[in-house]
Amino acid sequence: SDAFLSVRDLHVRFSTEDGIVKAVDGLSFDLERGQTLGIVGESGSGKSVTNLAVLGLHDPKATEIGGEIVLDGQELTGARDKTLEKLRGNKMAMIFQDALTSLSPYYTIGRQIAEPFIKHTGATKREGRLRAIEMLTKVGIPQPDLRVDDYPHQFSGGMRQRAMIAMALVCNPQLLIADEPTTALDVTVQAQILDLLKDLQQEFGSAIILITHDLGVVANTADDVLVMYAGRAVERGSVKEILTQPRHPYTWGLLSSMPRLSSDVNEALHPIPGSPPSLLNPPSGCAFHPRCGFAQEVGGTRCTDERPPLELGRAAACHLSADQKQTLFTEQIKPR
Ligand code: SF4
Ligand code: MG
Repeated sequence: SDAFLSVRDLHVRFSTEDGIVKAVDGLSFDLERGQTLGIVGESGSGKSVTNLAVLGLHDPKATEIGGEIVLDGQELTGARDKTLEKLRGNKMAMIFQDALTSLSPYYTIGRQIAEPFIKHTGATKREGRLRAIEMLTKVGIPQPDLRVDDYPHQFSGGMRQRAMIAMALVCNPQLLIADEPTTALDVTVQAQILDLLKDLQQEFGSAIILITHDLGVVANTADDVLVMYAGRAVERGSVKEILTQPRHPYTWGLLSSMPRLSSDVNEALHPIPGSPPSLLNPPSGCAFHPRCGFAQEVGGTRCTDERPPLELGRAAACHLSADQKQTLFTEQIKPR
């Protein structure tokens, strides 16, 4: 594959006191320049772990990584720490859910935005400060030439998130990984931050991986969506396909538990019954089978015995027939 970012058959395993956790179990996807891929799933589905693997941020002693991660022609899975460190904050950058854990309380916002810029470009402190002011302007912080000298606690939650975006983008990264970037924010600020990310993507041309548990977040932001469950990808498609013609029962569940902002009625949500499985000992066959209401439609013991593969391109890892995948959603799930 000659995609900008290509991940093939990624496996991530942790050794814990209780045994081996299969956090990511055979994951493949592609991402093109300037595109946004939403990775959606409940917590523990492996979405954050996947991206820590891309960034090379695992503890090598406790983690086993298999498969291939190729960024712009460069193989990352076997890369040395030094190579990865050069790429991080420079060619690839990340934004996390909680700006407070990423920003140090002891240094000014400006100094923290300037730091990766100085480190990767060799700019002077003064140039770094000017760059920080420029970045604060781009992310919509008022009076950036004054606020650049503030400490994180002097910023609101939304402003800290903007500052973290400024820090992530300061070196024009080609790949930006945003892990639940708006989860801690209220709905209005959430929408503003997502709009900001979209605008900055236009300007910087970065590819973005947007990790979220909330399909609503990817709806207006992502081009393509990968749905993950129990360390595996279960469905892949364009955002439109995933939202209007989803073909995996797990995606149906995610969709029907998504609050409808447009509705006046306070609709009851339909959360997926049960909870995600332990990754120490994932269910046999289709990992979703203990929670799925459609195993009978498949018949026999296929769902419990046989792991459904996920093809590349538009696909759903489910034993239902192509017809069933298309029709069951419209017939049974959609009216609510
Ligand atoms: Fe449900 Fe079977 Fe499809 Fe898994 S393979 S999602 S258990 S119908
Ligand atoms: Mg996470």
